[in-house]
Amino acid sequence: MAQDDPRRLIPRTDRLLGLPPVHRARHRLGEHVILALVREAQERARSGELAPDEVEPAVLAAVAARSATTLRPVLNATGVIVHTNLGRAPLSASAVEALVSAGGYVDVELDLRTGARSRRGAGARAALLEACPRAEDALVVNNGAAALVLATTALAAGREVVVSRGELVEIGAGFRLPALIESTGARLREVGTTNRTHLRDYADALGPETGCILKVHPSNFRVEGFTSAVEIGELRALAEAHGTPLVADLGSGLLAPDPALPTEPDVASALDGGADVVIVSGDKLLGGPQAGVMLGRSDVIARMAGHPLARAVRADKLALAALEATLAGGDPPVVQALHADPDRLRGRADRLARAVGAPVVAHDGRVGGGGAPGVPLPGWAVRLPEAVAPLLRTGDPAVLPRVHDHACLVDLRCVPEPDDDRLLAAVRAALAGLDGAGTGAG
Ligand SMILES: *Cc1c(COP(=O)(O)O)cnc(C)c1O
Repeated sequence: MAQDDPRRLIPRTDRLLGLPPVHRARHRLGEHVILALVREAQERARSGELAPDEVEPAVLAAVAARSATTLRPVLNATGVIVHTNLGRAPLSASAVEALVSAGGYVDVELDLRTGARSRRGAGARAALLEACPRAEDALVVNNGAAALVLATTALAAGREVVVSRGELVEIGAGFRLPALIESTGARLREVGTTNRTHLRDYADALGPETGCILKVHPSNFRVEGFTSAVEIGELRALAEAHGTPLVADLGSGLLAPDPALPTEPDVASALDGGADVVIVSGDKLLGGPQAGVMLGRSDVIARMAGHPLARAVRADKLALAALEATLAGGDPPVVQALHADPDRLRGRADRLARAVGAPVVAHDGRVGGGGAPGVPLPGWAVRLPEAVAPLLRTGDPAVLPRVHDHACLVDLRCVPEPDDDRLLAAVRAALAGLDGAGTGAG
C-alpha cells in the first residue's frame, strides 16, 4: 500500500472496539458480533464504499441498530388475526410478563414446600381445567401436530386410526395430516367419501384392529353442497360400544362457543358431545404461545402422558408460563381483534386516512391460521397505492399490509390501538419514499 493510499487512514480494529458506545454494547451483543460489524465497516472503506472518516460513524450506527435477535416486530395490517408467517397469536401483556419471569430459574417441576420434584407445568394444567371444567385432565405438548402424533402413537401405533376421507386435511406448507399420522406407525382406516361420511361407514370400519376414532376439524377449508359428516355426539355411542377412544382434533382452540364464529367447533361442546380427548393449538384462537393442548378423560390423557414419546414433545417452561398467563389474564389480543367494534375500527381508519389523504374502503378481516374459513369479519382498510407495500414492509416499524386488487390495504384490526401513531408515521415515511422514487402517491 502506498504511503498516500487513503486506506492507511482506516481506523484500526482496537480503536473502534474501544469507542465507549461500542464497548458498552458488550452487555447486549457478543464480542464476535461486534467484531463482525467493525470488520464489515472497515471492509466497506477498503473497497472505497466509505471514506476512512466515515468508518467510525458507520460502526456506531451499526452497533446501535444491531439487536441480539434478527426477528423484527411487525405491525400486522393485513386484517388476518392468526397469521402463521407472523408467528400466529401475539401474546397478552400478562403472558409476556410471565415469559420474562420464566426466563430465569422457575419452579416448573419442583414443589418449593417439600423440595421434591413435582408434576411439570401444574399451573398451566390447573388454568386449563379451570377454563374448561368439563375436562378431567389436561396435557400440554409442543404444538398441535405433536399432540396429534402423541395421541395416535399412544392409542393406535400398530393399529388403525379410523378417520373420514373428508377430514384428511393438509394443515399448511405441504404438511399433511395423513402423512403425519402414518409416521407414527398407525394405519389410516379411511371411511366415507370426500363429501359424505355416514355413521354406518364408521360402524363398518370398527373392529379388533381399531386404535381410536379420530375426528378432524377441516379448519382451513369448507366443503359446500351435497355434504354430510358425522358429529361427535353421534359417534359417542359407537365408540363406547367398541371401547375405543374418540379423539377430536379441533385445531383452532376456542374453549367455549363464540357467537362471532358460529360454525367454529369448541372444546366444551366437543367434550359435552362425548369426545374422550380434544386437541387444540395454543397459538390460534386460544391466543397463547405455540403449544398443543390436550383435554379430556383422565385415563386417556394418562396413556398419552405416560408414553415415552411424551418426553420428546413436552412443552418448555416459557410456553407453560405464557399459556397459564394467557388463560388467567385478560382477553388476549387475538380475542380483542376478533371482537373489534367495527365503528371503532372505522374511526381509527378515518383518522389514518385523513392524515395521509387516502380513501377508506370496506375490508373484511379473517381469522386466518386455518381457522373459521369463509367467515368474514366486517371492517375497514385505508387504501394506498400498491407500490407502498414493499416500503411499509421494509420500514421502521415494519408494517405488513394486504396487497389485493392492485392496492395496498392497511387494516387496523390487528394493530394495537396504542400503535396507531407509529403506524401513521410508517405510512407517511413509506408514501414519502414513494414520492422520492418518483412514482407518485396518487
Ligand atoms: C393448526 C391445526 C393443526 C396443527 O397444529 P399446530 O399447533 O400448528 O401444530 C392440527 N390440526 C388442525 C385441525 C389444525 O387446524
